[in-house]
Amino acid sequence: MIPALHVGGSPVSQYVEFIAELRARGFEGDISTSYADRTVLATDNSIYQRMPQAVAFPRNAMDVIRVGKLAGEERFAEVTLVPRGGGTGTNGQSLTDGLIVDMSRHMNRILEINVDERWAWVEAGVVKDQLNECAVFSPRVTVARDSVSPMPPSRSVAQEINTAPPKSASDARSAFDRLFKKTD
Ligand SMILES: Cc1cc2nc3c(=O)[nH]c(=O)nc-3n(C[C@H](O)[C@H](O)[C@H](O)COP(=O)(O)OP(=O)(O)OC[C@H]3O[C@@H](n4cnc5c(N)ncnc54)[C@H](O)[C@@H]3O)c2cc1C
Repeated sequence: MIPALHVGGSPVSQYVEFIAELRARGFEGDISTSYADRTVLATDNSIYQRMPQAVAFPRNAMDVIRVGKLAGEERFAEVTLVPRGGGTGTNGQSLTDGLIVDMSRHMNRILEINVDERWAWVEAGVVKDQLNECAVFSPRVTVARDSVSPMPPSRSVAQEINTAPPKSASDARSAFDRLFKKTD
């Protein structure tokens, strides 16, 4: 039997305290306890549903560190964190009744692409459509709405990038410029 969503009340106290402390420590991203956001992120590309207590949207790597450090403290030992990218996982892995850390809202910048060495340095919430858009890599990476970070090694971007060179240097350069203008 697939568990039904309980129409949520307010987050339980340990999450309320966790969020308050996170804000007090300078978390720069967004934090939502709204019923709407929690409901949206209560589903993914699986058949399952779980209502989170809250959702944090880190703005940068420091925010991710802030979340991790706080969760490591004894008093928050019961707090559950689940990172989330595109939510395309098919087995409900991104769902939790704890705190979702959604990387896709802000941490979606492509930081550097090295065409010669065929690698890209990206933030954890970059989805593969973004890499596809720059057309530097061929063949294009698959499953376009999932993010780069949770991919199993067998499907890593690095491996897919390394399967073929860019079509031409000028194609690669203009795509690269387009992309950086867009993400500036
Ligand atoms: C059409 C389709 C085809 C697919 N084909 C394949 C396939 O051929 N082979 C295959 O192996 N898989 C396949 N998948 C599954 C695919 O690998 C996953 O959907 C994808 O990698 C998950 O990425 P996501 O960003 O959507 O992660 P989510 O669904 O958001 O999360 C998936 C898991 O990764 C964790 N996670 C998310 N972001 C981070 C992060 N930044 N740091 C640490 N953990 C994180 C989550 O907590 C969760 O446990 C397919 C999925 C679809 C929809």
